[in-house]
Amino acid sequence: PDRAAEVRALVRDVPDYPHPPVVFRDITPLLADGGAFGDVIEAFADLAEAHGGIDVVAGMEARGFLLGAPLATRLGVGFVPLRKAGKLPPPVERVDYELEYGSASIELRTGTLRPGSRVLLVDDVLATGGTARAAATLVERCGAVVAGLAFLLELAGLGGRERLAGRTVDTLLRAE
Ligand code: 5GP
Repeated sequence: PDRAAEVRALVRDVPDYPHPPVVFRDITPLLADGGAFGDVIEAFADLAEAHGGIDVVAGMEARGFLLGAPLATRLGVGFVPLRKAGKLPPPVERVDYELEYGSASIELRTGTLRPGSRVLLVDDVLATGGTARAAATLVERCGAVVAGLAFLLELAGLGGRERLAGRTVDTLLRAE
């Protein structure tokens, strides 16, 4: 059996959520399956090792926390949460970015990342790439290095890869 296909089958496609015509990809059935969750973390660990040494994993709120934190402990490195605006006490570094409708901000605590440290950015879904691009900018603003960006699922055709052009992007699963 094709393991990737089995894992992919645990991502539930939800039509018209949160509003038409969006198809939301729900990863909670995958997380609830111990074997699949473990395989995903192992696959991320293989990617991290291929990047030649990661000093820290950074995860985007909120589902990037669910994947990034177990990956960090598996690699024996620290974890840094990149949070939505207003969740972290000051002082914080902040990057604002545009969404399809409106704008958003992403923050991390000042001083959490050492200059020169090699960071692996992790999130569940790569869609337009706006969140990931802002996260990479934030990491670099702190003087750290983005060693790579890893996603569970890439939604092809939304321009995410193009928005991250020139960076190392890995995705475990794809959806059209
Ligand atoms: P982007 O910034 O690439 O357009 O959107 C990616 C961000 O939105 C990620 O943080 C991701 O968690 C979330 N996201 C966008 N679409 C989906 C989706 O269909 N399913 C899930 N689980 N997250 C999504």
